[in-house]
Amino acid sequence: CEISNLPKEVYQHLACYVPKIYCLGPNLNPQNEDLLAPLLLQSPLEWYLCGEEPSVGLAKLEQNNQPSQLCGHVFKVGEPTYSCRECAADPTCVLCMQCFLGSVHKEHRYRMTTSGGGGFCDCGDTEAWKKGPYCQKHEPNISDSSQKDPLANLSDEMIARTYNVFSIILKYAVDMLTWEKEDELPEGLEARGDTYYCMLFNDEVHTYEQVIYTLQKAVNCTQKEAVSFATTVDRDGRKSVRFGDFQFCEQAKSVIVRNTSRQTKPLRVQVMHSSVVAHQCFALKALTWLGQIIRYSDALRRILCQVGLQRGPEGENSSLVDTLMLCDSKMWKGARNVYHQLFMSSLLMDTKYKKLFAIQFAKNYERLQSDYVKDDHDREFSVTDLSVQMFTVPSLARMLITEENLMTTIIRTFMDHLRHRDLHGHFQFERYTAQQAFKFRRVQSLIGDLKYVLISRPTEWTDQLREKYLEGFSAFLELLKCMQGMDPVVRQVGQHIEMEPEWEAAFTLQMKLTHIISMMQEWCSSDERVLIEAYKKCLSALTHCHSGFTDGEQPITLSMCGHSVDTIRYCVSQEKVSIHLPLSRLLAGLHALLSKTEVAYRFPELLPLSELSPPMLIEHPLRCLVLCAQVHAGMWRRNGFSLVNQIYYYHNVKCRVEMFDKDLSMLQAGASMMDPNHFLMIMLSRFELYHIFSSADCRKRYNRENANKDVVQQNNTLIEEMLHLVIMIVGERYTAGVGQVECFDEIRREIVHQLCIRPMAHSELVKALPENENKETGMERVIDSVALFKKPGVTGKGLYKLRPESAKMFNLYFHHYSRADQSKAEEAQRKIKRQNGEDSVLPPPVLPRFCPLFASLVNILQCDVLLGILGAVLQWAMEPSGGHWSESMLQRVLHLIGMGLVEEQQHLLSSAEDNDTNFNFTLKISRPGEAPANTPSILALLETLQNAPHLEVHKDMIRWILKVKLIQISLQSHLDSSGHSQEEVSIGSTVRDKDKAERKRKAEMARLRREKIMAQMSEMQRHFINENKELFQQSLEELDPSTSSTLEHSPSSCDSTLFCVGPRRWRAGGSDRRQVVTCILCQEEQEIRIDGKAMVLAAFVQRSTVMSKNRKRPPHNPDKYDPLFMHPDLSFGTHTGSCGHIMHSHCWQRYFEAVQAKEQRRQQRLRVHTSYDVENGEFLCPLCECLSNTVIPLLPLTKTSCSSEQPDLSQWLNITSLQMKALLSAHRKAKAADADGVDDMDGVNDCPPPDGFKLDYTPKNPYSSTIKEMLTTFGTATYKVGLKVHPNEQDPRVPIMCWGSCAYTIQSIERLLVDEEKPLFGSLPCRQDDCLSSLTRFGSACWTVSSHATVQNHFIRLLAALVPDPRVENTPCILDIDMFHLLVSLVLSHPAVFSLDSSGLSADTAQLHFLHLVTVAHIVQILLSSVPGESLILPLHKLHVCFSGLREVDSGWHLWCCVKAGILPYLRAAALFFHYLNGAPAPPELHTLGVGEWEALCGYLCLPSNLLQLFYNNRELMEPLWCSHPGVLQGLQSSVALIRESNHLIELPGDYSALINQASSFTCPKSGGDKSRAPTLCLVCGAMLCSQSYCCQSELEGVDVGACTAHTFACGAGVGIFLRVRESQVLFLAGKTKGCFYAPPYLDDYGETDQGLRRGNPLHLCQERYRKIQKLWRQHSITEEIGHAQEANQTLVGIDWQHL
Ligand SMILES: [Zn+2]
Ligand SMILES: [Zn+2]
Ligand SMILES: [Zn+2]
Ligand SMILES: [Zn+2]
Ligand SMILES: [Zn+2]
Ligand SMILES: [Zn+2]
Ligand SMILES: [Zn+2]
Repeated sequence: CEISNLPKEVYQHLACYVPKIYCLGPNLNPQNEDLLAPLLLQSPLEWYLCGEEPSVGLAKLEQNNQPSQLCGHVFKVGEPTYSCRECAADPTCVLCMQCFLGSVHKEHRYRMTTSGGGGFCDCGDTEAWKKGPYCQKHEPNISDSSQKDPLANLSDEMIARTYNVFSIILKYAVDMLTWEKEDELPEGLEARGDTYYCMLFNDEVHTYEQVIYTLQKAVNCTQKEAVSFATTVDRDGRKSVRFGDFQFCEQAKSVIVRNTSRQTKPLRVQVMHSSVVAHQCFALKALTWLGQIIRYSDALRRILCQVGLQRGPEGENSSLVDTLMLCDSKMWKGARNVYHQLFMSSLLMDTKYKKLFAIQFAKNYERLQSDYVKDDHDREFSVTDLSVQMFTVPSLARMLITEENLMTTIIRTFMDHLRHRDLHGHFQFERYTAQQAFKFRRVQSLIGDLKYVLISRPTEWTDQLREKYLEGFSAFLELLKCMQGMDPVVRQVGQHIEMEPEWEAAFTLQMKLTHIISMMQEWCSSDERVLIEAYKKCLSALTHCHSGFTDGEQPITLSMCGHSVDTIRYCVSQEKVSIHLPLSRLLAGLHALLSKTEVAYRFPELLPLSELSPPMLIEHPLRCLVLCAQVHAGMWRRNGFSLVNQIYYYHNVKCRVEMFDKDLSMLQAGASMMDPNHFLMIMLSRFELYHIFSSADCRKRYNRENANKDVVQQNNTLIEEMLHLVIMIVGERYTAGVGQVECFDEIRREIVHQLCIRPMAHSELVKALPENENKETGMERVIDSVALFKKPGVTGKGLYKLRPESAKMFNLYFHHYSRADQSKAEEAQRKIKRQNGEDSVLPPPVLPRFCPLFASLVNILQCDVLLGILGAVLQWAMEPSGGHWSESMLQRVLHLIGMGLVEEQQHLLSSAEDNDTNFNFTLKISRPGEAPANTPSILALLETLQNAPHLEVHKDMIRWILKVKLIQISLQSHLDSSGHSQEEVSIGSTVRDKDKAERKRKAEMARLRREKIMAQMSEMQRHFINENKELFQQSLEELDPSTSSTLEHSPSSCDSTLFCVGPRRWRAGGSDRRQVVTCILCQEEQEIRIDGKAMVLAAFVQRSTVMSKNRKRPPHNPDKYDPLFMHPDLSFGTHTGSCGHIMHSHCWQRYFEAVQAKEQRRQQRLRVHTSYDVENGEFLCPLCECLSNTVIPLLPLTKTSCSSEQPDLSQWLNITSLQMKALLSAHRKAKAADADGVDDMDGVNDCPPPDGFKLDYTPKNPYSSTIKEMLTTFGTATYKVGLKVHPNEQDPRVPIMCWGSCAYTIQSIERLLVDEEKPLFGSLPCRQDDCLSSLTRFGSACWTVSSHATVQNHFIRLLAALVPDPRVENTPCILDIDMFHLLVSLVLSHPAVFSLDSSGLSADTAQLHFLHLVTVAHIVQILLSSVPGESLILPLHKLHVCFSGLREVDSGWHLWCCVKAGILPYLRAAALFFHYLNGAPAPPELHTLGVGEWEALCGYLCLPSNLLQLFYNNRELMEPLWCSHPGVLQGLQSSVALIRESNHLIELPGDYSALINQASSFTCPKSGGDKSRAPTLCLVCGAMLCSQSYCCQSELEGVDVGACTAHTFACGAGVGIFLRVRESQVLFLAGKTKGCFYAPPYLDDYGETDQGLRRGNPLHLCQERYRKIQKLWRQHSITEEIGHAQEANQTLVGIDWQHL
C-alpha cells in the first residue's frame, strides 16, 4: 500500500512501543521483553515481509530455498574443531565435529583443537581444502544450483518488500548502535519519560576487584550484586548500575570516575536517557532478528547483503556496513558481538558479497587497524578479526593484492605504527614503556594478516600480480631496512654493564616475521622473473644499507702462505655489531633459490651476480658469527644476560632458519665467489686470530704467546670456533640450492641428528625441528625411513629410535648441535659402536654434491692457508701440554683432514663420468713445507702423533686417516690403470680386517675398565640411596627389620584348623608375642610392651567418601552428629593410612616440635608455604617424607586364657541382658544424682547386678604413661579429622571415631584387594599390614583412656540395635546400620563392660556371639533388601516367605547366591579384623585366589559354612528381634542396595573430542547460560563444573573457593579428582590448600599426553593409565600423591588451589 510512508510509519511504531517494552526500571526484565518484543515489534515486520501469516510464508521460503554448500556453523567457545594436516589449505581451515565425522579427513592425519569462539566451519569451501572439501551432508547434489542467482526463486513483490523492511530496520539498528548522544534520539524517534540509567562500560585496564570495590562504594550494593554487575560488564561490555533521575545517576557516575582515576584512566561511565538505552536494546534484537530471518532463504540473505553494502548518501565507504565497521571501536562488546555475528552469517556466507565486502574491508583497512590499535579490547572483539575469513581465501587474497594493493597496505600500516626509530632510521625499542609494549603487541596482529595473505602461493602469475607483489616486496624491504643493524652491541670492558638493554622487542619482531620472510622467498621461487627482480631489489637495498665502509675502518693488506688480500681493519671486540641482519639473510635465501633454477645451471651469466661484491656480502654475517664465537670464549661476559639470550635465540629452532642458517649460507655464497685463501685470511682477521697464524713461525705459538693465560685460553676457543665454522662452510650442503638435495633430505638429516643424541618422543622431535607457517615440520614423510617407534608403558612416552643403518649420516659437527648436544651425541654414538664391536671412530660422513654455484667451496679444504692452519695446530699438538692447544682443536683439525680425504674419494669415484675435477688432497697433505723452514708435511706430522702417548683419545681418528690415505693412494693408482672402479671399496671394513688383534687387546682393556666402573657405580648408588631416601622408601622398607616382622603370618602351630575368633581360637605363645622394632630416628631397638616406652607409627588420618553409595547426602553437622551407627551407604568415613615407619613416641615428639619451630621461623622470614600444614598437626615422615598428621601407638597382643565351659548364645544373652539392665540403672542413678544433687530414686528402677558383676569396680589401666599419652593423641586426632571439629579428648565421640576408622579402613582395604584381584591374606604391603594391626589393637585399647561409663553406654546402645531394649531410645532399624561397623564397635567397646565381670565368662566367647548375632542380622538385612517384594507385605511376613523359599532348593538357590554374594565382603572384612585383633594366622586357602575361599573363611571365623544354620539354630531368639522396628517398612520402600560393590571412577569416552564436545555445550550454572571458561569434570561422580571463575565462587568455611574446591567438600570429603577438559589435565585437590596436576589418561598415537591441548593430535583413552589413577583414589593415596608432587616442585605450593 503506502510504501512511500513506510519508513516513517515503522519509526512511529518503534518510537511508541520500544520504550514501553524495554528498560522500564532498574531491573531489566528479559522474560517480559522476550515475550512482548516478538508480539509487538517483530511480528508486524514479518507479516509485512511475507504478505501473509509469517509461519506459513517463512515455511514456503524455506522450502524453495536452495541452500549453499557451505556449512558455516559458527563455533562456540571451547567447541572442538578439526583440521586436516594433509588436506587443509592452511591451518585456519577447520571443520565442525559433525562435518568432520562425515568427511574423508577422519581417516587422515588430523589436528583437533578447541575453538576460542567465533569463526565458522569451512566445510563446502573448495578453496579451503586440497581435497575432500565436502562432508556427506554438504555434498552438492548434482551441478544445478552452482551459479544461479538465488533471487530467481522470489517474486518481484516479495523482493521489493524485503528490500524495504531490511533497509529500514538495518538503518535503524546502525543509527542506534552508533548513536553517541546521551539524551537525544535520531529524528523520528522521540524520548519519553524522564528516567536515566547510569551505564558502566567494560575496559581491559581495570581488574575485577577494582570494579567490584568501586561499585560497592558508588551505588551502595552488596558485594554479591557488585560481582554480578562486574561479570555482566565483562561479558556484555556494559551494564546499567543505577536507574533513576538524572541527578541520582550523575552522582553514581562521579563516584565511580573519582574512584578509578587515580592510577589509570577512569572507568567509562555514561548517564543515558532510558529511551536511548531502550532503542539500543531493541536495535540489537533487530539485528539478531535479521540474522534469523535470512536463515530461511539464501535470497533474503543476498538482499540483506545488498542493503548493507549499498553506498550511502555520503559517497564512498558510506554504506551501512562501512558505518558499522568504522564505528567498531566505539561500540560496547555486546553490540560488536551481535553485528559481527550478523556479518558472518550474511556477508561471509554469500560468495558474491563476500568479495564485495572484502574489498570494502581492504579499503578501510588502515583506518580499522588504527582504531584497533588505539582500542583496548582483545582482538576477538574487533571487526579486524574478520580478516582471517577473507584473507585466507586464496582467490580473494590474490584479488585484494592485485586490485587493492593489500600487501603494500598492510606493510605500510604496520610501519606507520612502529615509530621507534634511531638516528639511522633503525627500529629502536630501547626505552619503550609498558603502554608502548601493549601497543606493539596489538600491532603484531598485522603480521598475522600478512601471513594470511601470503599463506597460499600462487600457481599462476599474471603481470599485474607480479607488479603488485614486487611492490609489496619493496615495501617489505623498507621494513627490513629498518631492522638491518638494529639493537647493535658494543663489547663492555672494565665495568659490568649497568642496565640490561632491551632486546626482546626486536627479537619478537624477528620471530613474528620469520614465517613471513620464508613465505616471501617461496612466492619468489615460484616464478623466475619475480625471483630475479626480487633478488635485484634486495641486493640494491642491501648495498644501500652498507654503502661503502664507514670512517673508522681503514684499509689494510693481509698476506699469508704466499697469498695476499686487501680488506679493512675491523674488530668485533671493539666496534658496534648487530645480530639483526634480515636483509643479508633474505638475499642469502634468494641466492640459494637462484642457484636451484635452470638459469643457474645453464646461463649463470644471465644472473645479476656481477653486481655482487663478495667481501661486502660476507662482512656482516661473518661479524655476527664471530660475535657468537667471542661470547662462547667468554670475551663478552660484562655485557650481561641480554646478549647471552640473543645468542641463544639466534641459534634457537624458532629463529635459526632466518638467522643463523642464512648467515652460514651467505658465507658459503660469498666464499664460493672468492679465492679460498683470501676468504680464509679475512675470516682469520675477523676472528682476531690473524696474528697467530700469519707469522712465519706460527708453528711455535707457545714460544711467542705466553703472556696471559686467559688470553691464550680465549684464543684457543676462538680457534676451535673458527675451525668449526670452516667445517660448516664446506660441510653443510643440505640446503636445497646449496647442495644437490631436496627439502625432505634436510628434514631427514635433522631427525637423524636428533635421534643420534638419544631416542626421542614425537613431541620432542617436533620441538627440535623448525615448523613452517602451517605448523608442520614435514617429519611424518620421512620419520619411518630413519627411525623405529616403540610404544610406551603405563608411564612415559612412546619413543622413536634411530635405525642402525641411518647412523652413517652422523656428523659430529652438525651445525645445529649445541656444544652439549654434540658431546652427548658423540658419547652415544661411540657407545653404540663399541656395543656392536666396531671401531669407535666417528669419521666425517659422505656428503651430497654442491650445486654448481657453490661447487668451488670444496677448494677451501685444499687451499694453502687452511693447510697452513692445520699444520700449525698439529705441530702444537706435538708438545704434551702447556695450554697452547686443546683437544677440541685437534679433533676439529683431524675432522677437516678426514673431510678432505672423503671428498677426494668421492671425486675419484665419480671422476669416470666427470673428469674435470682438480681435487688432490692426498698430494697436498703429503707435501713438506718449502725452504727455508722445511716444515714436515701434515701426513708426516700425523704419523709422528700416532704414537704420542698424550694423544690416546685421538689415536682412533689418526689411524683412520692414515688407513684411508693408503686406500686412497691404491684406489688412485687402480683408477689410473683401469679407469674404472669395479670393486666397491668400503673404508670401514678394510680397516677392520687389518686391525683385529689390536681390537681384541682394546676389548680386554675396555672390559677391565667397565668392571672398575661398575664397582664405583654400585658404591655411588648406595650413597645415592642414603641421600635420596624418599625415592627409595620401598627398597628401604624391604631392608628395615621393624616393618617386616611377619611373625604373625606364619602358622606356627601345626593345628590343622585355625580359628581367629571364639574360645577355640589360635593363641600366641610367649615367644611369638615378643616383638622388637627399631626406631627410625635414634636407631635403637625396642621391645613392644604394655608397660614399656611407647613406639608409634607415622599415620595419616583423612575423611573419605571413596566407598560412598550416596554422594547426595549432605555433610553432617559436626557439632551434633552422632556417629555411633554407620549408615550402610558409607557416605562419610574416616580412613587411616601409614607409611609403616616406626619411632619412639618421645623421638617423634622431639622431631615434631622441631618441625613446628622451623615452620614458625620460616613463616616469619618469608611467606613461603609448605606442602604440609603444621598448624593442623601435619608433618612429613622423617624417613620417607610421606604426609602424616598423627601417630598410632604400637601395642602387644592382649593375653587371654581359655576357660572351659562357656554359655551358649541364649544363656549368654540372658546374662548380658541382666548385666546391661543393672549397668543402665546404675548410670541413670549416677546421672540423676549429678543433675539434682539429691539422691532421688523415684524414676529409676533398681536392678541388682548378676553374680560376679561388680558395678563399682574400676579396672586398673595396664599401660605405661607414654602409651596412654599416645592413645589419647591418636584418638583425639581421629576425632578431630573425622568430624572436622576442634580437638577435645573428653568428647564421648572420641572412641566411636576410633572404632569407625578401624572398621572403615579394613573395609576399604578389603575392597581394594578384590579390585586388584589379590588374595585376602599375604598380599598386603608391610606398611598396610602394620597399619591395620596397630589400628585394630589400638581400637581395643582406646576405651582405657576414655570415661568408662561413656564407653559402657555406647556398648549398651550398640547391643540394643541387635537385642532391642525398651529402655534404650533412638535405636536405628537394622536397615540403617552398616553391620561391619556394628561388629567392630561391639567387639572394641565390650572390654569396658567385660572388665566389670569376674564370673569367669570369656571375652572370646562374647566376640564369637557378637559375630554370630551380627552375621544373622546382616543376612536378614540382605534378604529384606534384595527380594523384590511389595512394600505392602509386612516385613515379618516377607522374612518368612524368604526363609521358606530358601528351604525349597529350586527356588531358593538364587536367593542363597544373593545372600552369599552380599555377605562375602562382610565376612572377608571380619576375617581381617579378627586376624589383626587376635593375631591368628590365616589358613593357606586364604593366601591364594580360588574356589575354597568361602569354606575357608567360614572355618576361620568359626561359622558354619551353611550360614542359614545360624539362623535356624537360634530362630526363636532372633526372629522377633528386628522386624518390628517402624523403620524397616520405611527403609524397604527406599530400598538401599546392601550388596557392596566397589566404586569406580566414571566411565570416560574412548575419544577425547567427545569430552570436548560435551564440555562445549556445558554452560555456567550461575550466570544464565554463559559458556564456562574452564569446564572441569569430576571423575568421581561425573559432575561438570565451572572452575577457576568468579561466577561460580562460593563461600566455604569463611573462605571464597572455586567450584572444584566447593564440590570436593560434598563429593569427596575434601579430596577431589578432576579432568580439566580444555587443558586435558588431571587435577588432584585436597582440602583448600593442596593440589597438583597429574598426567591425563589420554594418549595420542605417539604414546604421549597433550597437557594444554597444544599439539592437537587425536587423543584416545588409555585404560591402564586410568586404572592407575583409580587405584590411587581407592587406596586413599591422592593426598599423599599431592604431597610428593609439591615436595618435588615447590612452585605448586604457591598456587591458589582453592580458587580452581
Ligand atoms: Zn560444519
Ligand atoms: Zn559439512
Ligand atoms: Zn584430509
Ligand atoms: Zn627413638
Ligand atoms: Zn615413612
Ligand atoms: Zn564429584
Ligand atoms: Zn560459572
